[in-house]
Amino acid sequence: ATPTSIMVGTGRGAEMGILFRKGEALQLLKEAKVVAVDKTGTLTEGKPALTDMTVADGFLRDEVLAKVAAVEAKSEHPIARAIVAAAEQAGLVLPAVTSFESVTGFGVRAAVSAAGVETCVEIGADRYMTKLGLDPSMFASIATQLGDEGKTPLYAAIDGKLAAIIAVADPIKTTTADAIRALHALGLKVVMITGDNRRTGEAIARKLNIDEVIAEVLPDGKVEAVKRLKRDYGRLAYVGDGINDAPALAQADVGMAIGTGTDVAIEAADVVLMSGSLKGVSNAIALSKATIGNIR
Ligand code: ADP
Ligand code: MG
Repeated sequence: ATPTSIMVGTGRGAEMGILFRKGEALQLLKEAKVVAVDKTGTLTEGKPALTDMTVADGFLRDEVLAKVAAVEAKSEHPIARAIVAAAEQAGLVLPAVTSFESVTGFGVRAAVSAAGVETCVEIGADRYMTKLGLDPSMFASIATQLGDEGKTPLYAAIDGKLAAIIAVADPIKTTTADAIRALHALGLKVVMITGDNRRTGEAIARKLNIDEVIAEVLPDGKVEAVKRLKRDYGRLAYVGDGINDAPALAQADVGMAIGTGTDVAIEAADVVLMSGSLKGVSNAIALSKATIGNIR
């Protein structure tokens, strides 16, 4: 590509809300074979809401929700905000939290004191319960159904006893389905990479016609997934918004950050999509083909 074609392409990109932080990205994009996409905040709004909650025998819903929300009030995860909002909406008073620990990729835990009694509260994915030596299978049929509905099942344990299954749902952005159709029309494979539950990921992928799902990925796992996809398919663009997407954005041939995402993701990216929509990806690839493709 000539310097002029890169300048023209970069300028057109800027007009379309596609910021190329590296000229090389514009050249590489036209060769992309696969687009790997983070789920939460990229395909979805990143604003989940609590939709379902079932408590085990001997537990009271509001009491469990108040304790869990008290712990989640200390967490920055979007799931945490959903649970706190639900407790606030129910008018619950949150007990005091005396210690807090985030177990990245698994969940959160804290000591909660209500009416002078201290209890240990743990909340997270099924693999977190398993890690704690608890068996989440008493909620298996509920979890299967929630996952198939595209909801994320979470489990709460109180003083080492499984107390509740809670689901949150994160709406798919209205622009996502169209954006994936456009990528398919350009001949690309689309792969979802998520830390979320497998059933949930697969349900969302089915709705969106996504080709492959890599789910239940631990924080370090996104980079490994990107390396594997590059081997399998060739040139890869990765699209993400979160702090935990930064290593994958750097590992990709072209890292693309959603403009409404975190600063860490934007810093790690070669391209920033200002619109906040996945549609910017196919637009950027089409732009690369139009401006670089024909000029040698
Ligand atoms: P992602 O950004 O794809 O959700 P994370 O690694 O942040 O990936 O989280 C993976 C999983 O760990 C979540 O889907 C959830 O099950 C669990 N988890 C993480 N943080 C929390 C939290 N604050 N409360 C409950 N569960 C959590
Ligand atoms: Mg995300």
